[in-house]
Amino acid sequence: MQVLYKSTRGTKRAYTASEAILKGLSEDGGLFVPDKIPALDIPLSRLAEMSYQETAYEVMSRFLTDFTEEELKNCIANAYDDKFDTEKIAPLVEKNGAFYLELFHGATIAFKDMALSILPHLMTTAARKNRVKNEIVILTATSGDTGKAAMAGFADVPGTRIIVFYPKNGVSPVQEKQMITQKGKNTYVVGITGNFDDAQSGVKKIFNDRELAEQLDKAGFQFSSANSINIGRLVPQVVYYVYAYGQLLAQGRIREGEQINVVVPTGNFGNILAAYYAKLMGLPLGKFICASNENKVLYDFFSTGCYDRNRKFLLTTSPSMDILISSNLERLIYRIAGNDPEKTRELMHGLSETGKYQITEDMQKNLQEFYGNYATEEETAAAISELYKTAGYVMDTHTAVAAAVYAKYKAETKDSAKTVIASTASPFKFTRSVMHAIDKTYDTMSDFELAEELSRIAAVQIPAAIEEIRTAPVLHDRVISAEEMPETVKEILGV
Ligand SMILES: *Cc1c(COP(=O)(O)O)cnc(C)c1O
Repeated sequence: MQVLYKSTRGTKRAYTASEAILKGLSEDGGLFVPDKIPALDIPLSRLAEMSYQETAYEVMSRFLTDFTEEELKNCIANAYDDKFDTEKIAPLVEKNGAFYLELFHGATIAFKDMALSILPHLMTTAARKNRVKNEIVILTATSGDTGKAAMAGFADVPGTRIIVFYPKNGVSPVQEKQMITQKGKNTYVVGITGNFDDAQSGVKKIFNDRELAEQLDKAGFQFSSANSINIGRLVPQVVYYVYAYGQLLAQGRIREGEQINVVVPTGNFGNILAAYYAKLMGLPLGKFICASNENKVLYDFFSTGCYDRNRKFLLTTSPSMDILISSNLERLIYRIAGNDPEKTRELMHGLSETGKYQITEDMQKNLQEFYGNYATEEETAAAISELYKTAGYVMDTHTAVAAAVYAKYKAETKDSAKTVIASTASPFKFTRSVMHAIDKTYDTMSDFELAEELSRIAAVQIPAAIEEIRTAPVLHDRVISAEEMPETVKEILGV
């Protein structure tokens, strides 16, 4: 069964998966969605026996139907190899009655590695399939983790260049150091004097600039996106929910067909949307618990049906979730509107014109599988401290937002279904906030001492990604305003 991809804002043309991966974003500003969600047509019991790579093939081959078996298996083998520090790729560990799905064992110790280690391979394969002669220029706005993970994936991949924009004062010191020390002849990192949404809007504008696209085409370049709006990011993220289900079966923790919940610390809505797609494929998932930090746009949306970005942007200790426009939500909006591109366009128009929109009551009824809540900074810190003190397990600030929201959900609903918490970053990536939550006396320690101490109290080795940046030289120091983004891109490409 062939799956094609259409824009959430128009029905005009359907694209193959490889075309949609190359384009990233649709020309009308919409996001690509599969014209039908393929079924996971294998017995659940088989999931328990499959490796991560095998699971990845079963899931991804259903979505990326114009890739041959050989092409896809090559992409998977090149992505999920010893860049990950465990053969399990995404281990599932039970602590205090919840299952933490550790998505941080890749090159940059955060969950973006799960998709970004395979995207460059999907993209270069897609380029070959579509006889693309141009060099592919990846343009990415990042709230911290995407940028580094994308560069780690694309560095020195022939036929590609990557330009990353990040909010100069909106990422953690470790995140910034990781980015500005990035090696690779084809990598460029630029700081923006604004927040993540400014960077993201700037990238979207560049993508929609036809004139610039023509200029670049003449010079032998074409843009593509590594942001979580690319379906080449979304599809690999469906895999680990299916894999987690298989692991629970293998560990004898659930019966075949038993419904489980997932909790996802959410920013751009890509990760939780992937879980939702897993359910639409047929995976027995119950509730999607959407966890926000104090930038609680999504909590308000799920409680009122009104999405309103007009509010103060807060900097929190979970910076990868400091987002006021959750781009991937558009795919859910499209779905709950009955796959209606007109309605989606109208609402998204409202968002860009007035910063808000209200969904209809019918649409709201289609959101019953979702539960939204948020955690304050205090609640997040308390969740870290409590899990450490009761189970000896140290989680990062983003995962802690999810854990705190899950506790609220359980208290409110008494739902006792087995629950998987997406654990999106290693605590070593946000060491200072994590250690501060555990004991304020750690505040006087240097970053290096903190990492050593974390390693000691959690009985976990310091990840290679952290060891490396201690000595790596700074290779990128450009800082610009959001308005200068198009010019900067031209300058970098010599156009
Ligand atoms: C990106 C990110 C998130 C948010 O994921 P979305 O798919 O954008 O909702 C959560 N935690 C961490 C550590 C991240 O890097």
